[in-house]
Amino acid sequence: MRSFYAPAQATHAPQRELHNGGFTAYAEVPARAAAILAAIGGAEAPRDHGVAPIAAVHDPAYLDFLRDAPALWAAAGRSGDAIPYAFPIVGRRPLALSRIDALLGAHAFDATTPLTPDSWTASYGSAQSALAATHAVLGGERAAFALCRPPGHHAGRDYCGGYCHLNTAAIAAQAARDAGIAKVAILDIDYHHGTGTQDIFWARGDVLYASVHADPATDYPFYWGHADERGEDEGEGATLNRPLPHGTRLDAFRAAQGELLEAIAGFGAGLLVVSFGADTWEGDPISDFALTTANYQVLARDIAGLGLPTVVAMEGGYAVEALGANVASFLSGF
Ligand SMILES: [Zn+2]
Repeated sequence: MRSFYAPAQATHAPQRELHNGGFTAYAEVPARAAAILAAIGGAEAPRDHGVAPIAAVHDPAYLDFLRDAPALWAAAGRSGDAIPYAFPIVGRRPLALSRIDALLGAHAFDATTPLTPDSWTASYGSAQSALAATHAVLGGERAAFALCRPPGHHAGRDYCGGYCHLNTAAIAAQAARDAGIAKVAILDIDYHHGTGTQDIFWARGDVLYASVHADPATDYPFYWGHADERGEDEGEGATLNRPLPHGTRLDAFRAAQGELLEAIAGFGAGLLVVSFGADTWEGDPISDFALTTANYQVLARDIAGLGLPTVVAMEGGYAVEALGANVASFLSGF
C-alpha cells in the first residue's frame, strides 16, 4: 500500500497539555510518526497540492490564525507554547479582537492543543499527506495510507482541539467530492469521537460520518458523539454514532463497526475515508478499550470487504511502543 508522510510533520512538538487538573507531558509526540514509519518501511513525501483544498474545509481567517498565533504569543511577551484559557461559550459573536488570548479561545475548544511556531508547517504537511493519499486512490489505488500527524478529526471549520489543527479526513473527503465523487463516507474508529468531522459535515447529505468511539458520557470530548446525534437539514441521518463502554473488546467493537459498514454500503459512497486511531489498543495510556494488535487486521478486513476505494488517515494512538505494530496490523487487512 502506498503511504504518505512529510518530514515537516515531525516538527510540531509542544511540551505539555492541560487536562484533568494539571499539566502533563504532551501525548501526541513526534515519536509516534517515527514508530509508524519504522513499522511500515517508510513513506513517500506528498506532492504539494497547495492551500486551496485545505481552505475548501477550513475558514481562511482560521488558517491565518494558525500561522500567526505563535508570533502574536511571542509578541505578547510569552514564552513556551500558546495555550488558550478563556472560551466564548455564550455565543461566538464575530468580534474583531486582537489580543492573542482572545484569538486562542475563539479558535479552540480545549486547552490540550498548544500551538508552537511549527504547528502550521506540521499540520500543513499532515493535510498534504491526506491529499496525496486521496489522489492516489482517485488515480486507481485500491487503498492508500496517510500518516497524518498531527491528527485531524477534532478540528472544525474554524477551531482546533484534541491535538488537531487541520481536519485531514474532512480535507480528504472534500477533495474527493471536488474531484467528482458524488458521495463520500467517513468511518471514524479512533477511540474518541471525531467532533470536528461531525461538525463540518453535520448539515450535508453528500458526506456520511459514521463513528465508533468511547461513550462521551464518560470520555473526552464529552459534548459530542452521543447516539442521538444524527445530523440535520440535508444531513439528517448522515451522521451515525455508536458509543461503547470502557473495556470494549473486539466482538462488540466489530459488531458496531459492522452496523456502520452496512449503512455506508447503503449510502452509496464512491470513496471511503477511514479515520484510524490505535488508541483503542488495550495498553493505550489515555484510553480504556481492550483491542489487541491482531484485532486491527480483523477490523481492516471487514472494512476492505466493502470493496470501496479507501483512504486511511491516521488519527490517535499514544502507546508509542506498540503503535507501529498496531498500524501495520491494520494496514495488512487491506
Ligand atoms: Zn483518539
